[in-house]
Amino acid sequence: MYGLQPAFHYFCHFGLPVLVALWFFKPHWKKVTLILWLTMLVDLDHLLATPLFDACRCSINFHPLHSYPAIGIYILLLFIPKCRLVAIGLLMHMATDQLDCWLSVRLCS
Ligand SMILES: [Zn+2]
Repeated sequence: MYGLQPAFHYFCHFGLPVLVALWFFKPHWKKVTLILWLTMLVDLDHLLATPLFDACRCSINFHPLHSYPAIGIYILLLFIPKCRLVAIGLLMHMATDQLDCWLSVRLCS
């Protein structure tokens, strides 16, 4: 899986939103895909970290916008119809990052 992990990671960040948009929001799939992709901006919190990138660092609960309290807020946003799509994008992002942490454990320890 090690060689495939980056491909899997980027598929989850960029490919999966397209599939979700096509499957659940067919008439507006392009706009929905764009909104889901824009939730990637949550990674701007990595700019606060030193070093900026560390392949063996788990983003979840390290970066402020990837913390458990932030994730709790994203879950609450699911209940506000106007925020739901952004919440879905953010939670898909968090799930992808968490999956990456689990897949990295053996590689980095
Ligand atoms: Zn992230």
